[in-house]
Amino acid sequence: MQVLKFGGSSVATAENMEKVIDILLSASATGPTSVVLSAMGGVTDALISSGKLAASGSEQYKQLLQTIETRHLDAVRALIPVARQSSLLSWVKQRCNEMESLCEGIFLLGELSPRTLDRLVSYGEWLSSYIVSGALQSREVPHLWADSRQLIRTDSSFGNAKVDMAQTRLLMEAYVYEFPSPLYILPGFIASNAKGVTTTLGRGGSDYTAALVAASLHADVLEIWTDVSGMMTADPRWVSHARVIDRISYQEAMELSHFGAKVVYPPTIQPVMDAGIPVWIKNTFAPRDPGTLIEHEVREKQKGPVRGISSINDMALLSLEGSGMVGVPGVAGRLFQALASQSINVILITQGSSEFSICVGVAGNDSEAAQLAVNTAFGYEIGLGSIQPVRVENHLAVVALVGDNMKSHPGISGRMFGALGRNGVNVRAIAQGASEKNISAVVAAEDVKKAVNVLHEAFFETAYKQLNLYIVGLGNVGAKLMDQLKQQQYYLLKHTRLQLRVMGIANSRKMVLSDQGIDLATWQQALQDGQPMDLDAFVEEARRQNLRNSVFVDNTASALVASVYDRLLTRSIAVVACNKIACSSRFADYQRLKFLSRDYNANFCFETNVGAGLPVIGPLSDMVRSGDRVDRIDAVLSGTLNFVFNNYDGTRPFAEVVRQAQEEGYTEPDPRLDLGGTDVMRKILILARECGAEMEMDDITNNTFMPTSCMEGSVDDFYRELGVQEAHFASLYQKARANGRILKFVASFAGGKAQVGLQEVSPEHGFYHLYGKDNVVQFYTRRYPQQPLMVKGAGAGADVTASGVFADIIRAARI
Ligand code: ADP
Ligand code: ASP
Ligand code: MG
Repeated sequence: MQVLKFGGSSVATAENMEKVIDILLSASATGPTSVVLSAMGGVTDALISSGKLAASGSEQYKQLLQTIETRHLDAVRALIPVARQSSLLSWVKQRCNEMESLCEGIFLLGELSPRTLDRLVSYGEWLSSYIVSGALQSREVPHLWADSRQLIRTDSSFGNAKVDMAQTRLLMEAYVYEFPSPLYILPGFIASNAKGVTTTLGRGGSDYTAALVAASLHADVLEIWTDVSGMMTADPRWVSHARVIDRISYQEAMELSHFGAKVVYPPTIQPVMDAGIPVWIKNTFAPRDPGTLIEHEVREKQKGPVRGISSINDMALLSLEGSGMVGVPGVAGRLFQALASQSINVILITQGSSEFSICVGVAGNDSEAAQLAVNTAFGYEIGLGSIQPVRVENHLAVVALVGDNMKSHPGISGRMFGALGRNGVNVRAIAQGASEKNISAVVAAEDVKKAVNVLHEAFFETAYKQLNLYIVGLGNVGAKLMDQLKQQQYYLLKHTRLQLRVMGIANSRKMVLSDQGIDLATWQQALQDGQPMDLDAFVEEARRQNLRNSVFVDNTASALVASVYDRLLTRSIAVVACNKIACSSRFADYQRLKFLSRDYNANFCFETNVGAGLPVIGPLSDMVRSGDRVDRIDAVLSGTLNFVFNNYDGTRPFAEVVRQAQEEGYTEPDPRLDLGGTDVMRKILILARECGAEMEMDDITNNTFMPTSCMEGSVDDFYRELGVQEAHFASLYQKARANGRILKFVASFAGGKAQVGLQEVSPEHGFYHLYGKDNVVQFYTRRYPQQPLMVKGAGAGADVTASGVFADIIRAARI
């Protein structure tokens, strides 16, 4: 005998039922077969809602029942030739009339007991199995429809009835003896008590029915046909790279299903495990896929110690604490007794070795009843003050690693908690079974999806990482960055297994946010069609999405954008900025961001603040961290000023050369920030701070060469005034030239002091041969005392800045 079970989605429509019929026919051609069917997908939910609506006095239940009726009648019409439909159609209508009468009764009484609800929902599997049976009959396939209510005996715990295994086995054996058939069709989920009153086996219980049939009839195999190609390493609706597990032990399958892997209803495994019946999980919609085999021991060489990751999404933690518990036997027993008396299932338990507290996890909707039960049970001690009233924390979840072989692999919990910690997921409690088949962590409900993904990445995608970007600022640098990301996206995926996704983009006018990632080929259009920019909403969405490996990228020069970094870092979202404002604002603010970055394990990278894409801050911080001491920094840090003084020789007006620099994209949006020295001051300030100096902007001496009149008014006024002052600039140039020198705007930091200003540089000087928009930085340190460490190259321009930002993104994501 083989037993096949088809779930709700497999029988959701007539088209799907056809697939089911094909599968069951080819199975039954190989030997005796029993087939267990769920209700059509969504029907159980709809029946529960109808009952509840009726009980609450709403007549809307009628509409729901109507749609249920239509779905079933449509299925009959599609599956069975017209000439043979009528008796089944009238049978379905009769059942639907009964449901209507039942709901009318509920409506009139205004009450829905668990017993009545079981009766109502039982119609779901009754109808679906009867329709499939009718379809087989119309094709003249010899078979019997067997009523599970007469074969599975339970107690009277309506809604979640306990099975009397011995009685059930007798009833089944007697039935097949009396009514032999090559093929039985049975409704799943439904059963009855000793008085013949209909009961149900709990939501998802059709799997259990199939296991009971398999165990009672000593089946050779049980096949659970569903809508995925097997038991997977994690719920595929949450983890896009979850993969099918080829083979898994009963124990592992049981742990995974108990911890939320809905693909198998948890009680299903026990009866088949006891009987040693192998179980296959197969996909109705891809029947050729191999599926998952659940069996005693997985003999094949294991790929890794962790088999799967699952989660329970709504949980509450109850903590019982007090000195009255220390050394007193029986406290735990009374606690569990109190919960059991209210049929409350305990999901996990932790107890500190001091015995001062016990913590239990229960389903979120049991939390109030559990609190009451425990406080009542310990009322006496609570009155005395030796035990405190139970403390309840709601909105929690559990994420669990499951695997038989974890016990022989040290370091798994370290890797688990390390990965969670690095991604800012706070662990509230930990439980590990003594068998070490399961390690569970309690986390905030809002973090659970992230936690499952983080762990999946850590244990199953070691060579595969996801990186989620939120990019603000799409001007010169931002647009180039988008080009580079698009160009590298495939390369990174193929060669470094890095899936780069841009989840949000914004400029000062518009923003776009997506749950799936923005198409990098069409981002301009998406932005044009986007919503008006709202920085707060943008940041909140990044925080809400709570994705692992998130990086916020600031390509603006905006103080407002710089002011949100703290909100991102505290959510473990890394920040990459070419915006210099945050690092050159008050020292206390800069330091705070550094601390937040450390405390929340979120990188804060700003390499492009100095020298665009040149490696300056990285090597400097490497030197400082490895114990070197910086004695002096001399640098030409303004690509703009270098460009201007390299191109200005008195033949063209100074203003024209500045305008060219702006047009070619080398200046800040307001060129006065470059010409007046502010931009260079910010850069030397950042370098000084990275050397460890607690310095402010005001501490820097600015020997400006700009006449004050040029620094007033609008950008247009500035250009006009530059023209007026042409003689001043010409004389600076001529004076240097007369001395055989050229002009460079130099920044230095030495002896704790920093200054910036125009200098005449002679041909022997290292800065003399500095062309175009190049930058140069010389570090004199204890390890580089005579010949400085020198970094030189293009220090401005959208392309190099964007590539520096890109490099920071990869660094920030720690890949
Ligand atoms: P059926 O109606 O066939 O009984 P269910 O909806 O009860 O199907 O179970 C199948 C679903 O279980 C899948 O669609 C999948 O979303 C979910 N699921 C959760 N965890 C896992 C897992 N670890 N492996 C496979 N599926 C899982
Ligand atoms: N129809 C029932 C439910 O939806 C049982 C099952 O499908 O397994 O819970
Ligand atoms: Mg199911």
